Amino acid sequence: MAFRSGFVALIGAPNTGKSTLLNHYLGRKISIISKKPQTTRFRVLGIKHLPEAQIIFIDTPGIHEGKTHLNRLLFETAKYALKEADLILWIVDITDPDAPENGLILKILIKETFRTLLVLNKIDLLPREQLLPLIEKFSSLYDFSAIVPLSALKGENTRPLLDEIIKALPEGPAFYPEHMLSDVPREQAFAEIVREKILWFTHQEIPHAVAVMVEEIKSYPDRSFMDISATILVERSSQKAIVIGKAGQMIKKIGANARKELEAALSLQVNLRLWVKVEKNWRGNPKILRKLGLVTE
Ligand code: GDP
Ligand code: MG
Repeated sequence: MAFRSGFVALIGAPNTGKSTLLNHYLGRKISIISKKPQTTRFRVLGIKHLPEAQIIFIDTPGIHEGKTHLNRLLFETAKYALKEADLILWIVDITDPDAPENGLILKILIKETFRTLLVLNKIDLLPREQLLPLIEKFSSLYDFSAIVPLSALKGENTRPLLDEIIKALPEGPAFYPEHMLSDVPREQAFAEIVREKILWFTHQEIPHAVAVMVEEIKSYPDRSFMDISATILVERSSQKAIVIGKAGQMIKKIGANARKELEAALSLQVNLRLWVKVEKNWRGNPKILRKLGLVTE
């Protein structure tokens, strides 16, 4: 059988299980392995090396119809990623099939007729008999290459999806050497771990208003620890109060959990320092967006 390789763009509303699916295929450590800065205009999230194929998963920034600088920028980057990809993987949470993003995604798909696999995720949460009508509904909306119901969390039916992905990729040699698992810069990967903890523990009260900027990474030759300093940007002082928490309890919890994950991933002791800063208009500030890795030029 000929070797296949290509780029697969992940798209879907927030919380549909994109990261869970990726982690299932790639393992948790992946995204902080490489120190190499990003080489392409889209962000490679991870690379799955198989005997018969190389699957390169790329990020698609959330699709919103907002009017801010950041929204427009993300929308353009998203469309670019979709155009460059060999295949689109659209992840839908079947407990929330009518998420507002889905209409927008469908509109883009119909306009450009991309080759798309539809993933109906979280089948563990829905009785079987409610699945069939959903499959029928989605298959009437667009000519998907395939529709695969699965549970990313439980790892149910995930191998059939992998097979569908491979089938949809063009024949060709691998793009990346086998040791390379991702090209997300370290700063972004570390920041994402911290940001994830903020969203967990604040119960997503402030998801879009928060950004994490890793300011400094210091490692020492022959020592098994690393210093990491990061600033948490929020838009209002009320959000700062949430992130810090009563008597600093919240920021402590965020820091401790992020540190634990960083230490496990890096096999190093980590000294993590976090600051919280109110930056009213960070989403409209090109300098900050560049530092966050959202703009590459
Ligand atoms: P993302 O925002 O699309 O990257 O979504 P995440 O991967 O962060 O998942 C959002 C939430 O959905 C997390 O709490 C996951 O544990 C949960 N989740 C993801 N996949 C499944 C699934 O198959 N079943 C269930 N029950 N929960 C899931
Ligand atoms: Mg995610």
